[in-house]
This record gives sequence, structure tokens and C-alpha cells, in this order.
Amino acid sequence: MQTINMSLTQQLIEREEKYNAHNYHPLPVMLTKGKGVYVWDVEGKKYFDFLSGYSAINQGHCHPKIIDALVEQASILTLTSRAFHSNLLGEYAEFITQFFGYDKVLPMNSGVEAVETAIKLARRWGYDKKGIPANEAKIIVCSENFHGRTVNVISFSTDESSKTGFGPFISGYETIEYNNVQALATALKDKNVCGFLVEPIQGEAGVVVPDEGYLATCFEMCKAANVLFIADEIQTGLARTGKMLAIDHENIKADILILGKALSGGVLPISAVLCNDEIMLNIKPGEHGSTYGGNPLACKVAIAALQVLKDENMSENAEKLGEYFRTQIRNLNSPFISLVRGKGLLNAIVIKHENKDAAWDLCVNMMQNGLLAKPTHGDKIRLAPPLVITQTELDECVNIISKSLEVLK
Ligand SMILES: *Cc1c(COP(=O)(O)O)cnc(C)c1O
Repeated sequence: MQTINMSLTQQLIEREEKYNAHNYHPLPVMLTKGKGVYVWDVEGKKYFDFLSGYSAINQGHCHPKIIDALVEQASILTLTSRAFHSNLLGEYAEFITQFFGYDKVLPMNSGVEAVETAIKLARRWGYDKKGIPANEAKIIVCSENFHGRTVNVISFSTDESSKTGFGPFISGYETIEYNNVQALATALKDKNVCGFLVEPIQGEAGVVVPDEGYLATCFEMCKAANVLFIADEIQTGLARTGKMLAIDHENIKADILILGKALSGGVLPISAVLCNDEIMLNIKPGEHGSTYGGNPLACKVAIAALQVLKDENMSENAEKLGEYFRTQIRNLNSPFISLVRGKGLLNAIVIKHENKDAAWDLCVNMMQNGLLAKPTHGDKIRLAPPLVITQTELDECVNIISKSLEVLK
């Protein structure tokens, strides 16, 4: 081991790569601390976090009110399993259902578990309420989707790198083009369709924002066809796009709402599925569950995380600063940025350059200049800071991005 001239960061990366699975390709930065919009590495260097844990950290790193809830509850009661009641489950369920206006919640942990839950609920409603013949239910999904990593969910991914070598896959999904209402109209002709699962903005695909009115039209079409409109708001929800939910921009209410990520403000894996009794109560005791789902610690943390979003007007800040940020980036007039897109503080730039690694090189340069972001799908860079960022801080970030773009010259 030649550790003599190796930086601390490099040594720690080597250890991680030696013992940890190689299922990610991180930037070469080793973080050790976070506060608000900032993170610090092991060498003491400070950065703006423009990924926010893929929008899990909307409330900012280590938000004091969320951490207080966590610490307080951690020494009282953390897990009962659902074999027994805990007083916090009812409190949380009442809080979150009133917050979003649904009859019931089904609590899970990771995002993909909530997606799986939504699929089960939709299929079950399809059989019990819509009268679809046994094992014939279909769910319509969109190309370029991202809904998580289980074998079922990758079964309807169109991204080969997520699927290759993991078959056989699960049937019952019909893939249509995103942002294409005609394709949905055709797919809805099938009487065995029980649900349409959609991301209001495709985050992983590179912050692909559909045409205005697309989601509202899809919603109306689903209503007319007696098909459930299932919104995966795991990344777009919870104030990220300038409203509490991204579908609020089109004034629609999903039949099934899926939340995750910022539901804990980056503290614990907490996800949830919300819907009305007509859909939720088809699942009976013993038919679905999770050991950790709805645990008292998660209940306490999620209430605090939601309350903070509302109390600190994070949707309003995301709306206002998002607009400002896109304008500032466009005003850079960089020949290397072919497109700036997004809603609220969920934004992306598309890099135009002859070098196919340009987006990665730019991210490495931004890292050196004190801003962390990560390319997605090669040429796109997602720019999504915590929603507690101020305009002054954002100006500083635009300067960092501007300066870093020089590396592409
Ligand atoms: C992150 C994400 C998921 C999966 O969440 P995990 O917690 O990683 O399982 C699902 N859907 C969308 C839209 C996401 O952004």
C-alpha cells in the first residue's frame, strides 16, 4: 500500500472500493458533515450541495427541528412492529392524511417499496372494484421512467443498464411514450388497465418537464376510462418544484400518491402511499406489510419534516428562486449549455460538447470550485439545492457554475 503521497480522500475511497459493492460511480469527494445547503469533506473543504440526496434533503442538511424530533423519539420508542399499536402511528396517519387530503396512508420505508405498494393497491382495486379478470390487470407506465430498483419495478424500466442481466421480468405493464396523450388514449382502450403510473417530472431521466396541461389531460382521460392515476412524487413532491406536490401545478389530485425521499428530510428512509378508502381498504390484514413501516421514530420524524416544509414556506422559496436561477443560468449564454429546464428548484442543464465526458468534467471542476452536482444520462446535470437556499447564496452558486464552465473551453 503506497499511502505516503495519497490524500486522505484517496485513502478513504480506496477502502470503500475495496469493501463496498461497486454499484455507484460517485464523484471523488468524501463527505463528513452537513448543515443547511452546505456539506464538508474530510479535508475540511466546504461545498454547496446541489444534489440534496436526490431531493431527500429539501429541508437542508440536519434541519434542527427534524433532528430534535429524531433525537427525542430515539430514546423513547423506536420500533414496535405492526404486531402491536404505537400511539404515534395514529398521530402521524391523521397528520399526513389531513396534510394531503386523503382518507388513508400506508407507511413504508424506501421509495421503491412505496411504488410496489401502489402497484399492489392498483391491481387489487382493479380486481375487487373494477372487475378485471384474475391475473389480467395491467398498469400503464412511461418510457424513460425511474421508479426504483426492485426486480418488479425494473421490469418496466426502459433503461438497459438497469435491466440487463437481471431477468426474468414481471409482466402486466404497458409502456407508452412520456408526454404523449395520444399514446395514453390508445393504451386506455384496454379494459384490463387498472392504473397509469407517472412521474410528474422525470427526475432521473434528466428533469424532463412535460408540456403544460399534459398531467391534467392524462388525469381526465384516466377518470373517463375508470383507471387510477398514480403519481410518483418521490422526487418531485414536498415543495421541490415550487408547490407542495408537482401535480398541484395542474390542480389535480392523484388517486394514489407516492411519497418518499424528503418525507424524512434525509434522516431516515420513510415513504408513504396515500389514497382513499375505496382503494386502500381492499387490502386486508396480513396481505401486505413491512417490519419498519410506520415505526414510531419514522412517524415523529415525518411529522417534523412535513411541518418544516410548511412553516418555512419552502414551496414559495423554491418557486421564486427556481425562476431566478433558470434566468441567471440562461443569461450566462454559455455555448456549452444547450438547454436549461426545470420547475422550482428541480432543474437540469444539458451540456453540448464534442467530448462525451464534458458533463462529468464540469462536475469535477464545480466540485473543485465548491459546488457538488452529478451528471445523469451522460450529458445532463441536475441542479437541485436544498430549498433553504437564499438568493445571495444562489448568486454565489451561479458564479461557481459560470467559472467552472471555463474548463470546457
Ligand atoms: C428515488 C426515486 C424512487 C426510488 O426511491 P428509493 O428510496 O431509492 O427506493 C422512485 N421513484 C422516483 C421518482 C424516485 O426519484
